Amino acid sequence: MLKKIVISLCLLSCVTCSGHGPSVFLKNENKRIYKNSSCDPNGEFPQMVILPFFENASQIMPNCDTYPKHKTALAFFVFYHKWVEHFGDSDYAVKGVLQRVMVQWDPIKKISKRGYSLDGKPFINRTIVGRVESENIIWVWQGYEHKISRSALIHELVHLALRAKNGTADPDHEGGKYKGWTFSHTLMIQECKQMLEAFNI
Ligand SMILES: [Zn+2]
Repeated sequence: MLKKIVISLCLLSCVTCSGHGPSVFLKNENKRIYKNSSCDPNGEFPQMVILPFFENASQIMPNCDTYPKHKTALAFFVFYHKWVEHFGDSDYAVKGVLQRVMVQWDPIKKISKRGYSLDGKPFINRTIVGRVESENIIWVWQGYEHKISRSALIHELVHLALRAKNGTADPDHEGGKYKGWTFSHTLMIQECKQMLEAFNI
């Protein structure tokens, strides 16, 4: 009897220790949808494609090269890995927002009427390379040399993560008007970009 109890306790603790909190390895339970959702080069553009591993995450593609869904999904993995390393995600708020993000890729930059630079200085009528459109939609220019590591994807994901955590996306970044964004976030973005660069993405 005692042996049985000990064994079941061991099993129980094994089960509980399998959940070490946020993991970058997300499940791929919707495999069929992921497989069926792919870019059709002969179809009309822009096209919406579901991102594998992130439940309801999707991207709007202006062409099939921007970007293959596995590249965007890998960028999400890198983002989440680094976010958890720096800030943790005990309530899964960031994981949750990643699972419903829609990325609108664009080959053309936009002009923004107003916004803030990284150090929090306001600007008017400036060319921008990314923008938060809603709590789960981000618009992202395709990036220099057509690389995700040289786009604002990770930067915009930080805005969404902050919004999910704090209720504000902190539009003035390291500036003091809105709270949330710190130098650590800027550093985290650099690390993500270096990691993506290592994958040649
Ligand atoms: Zn920003």
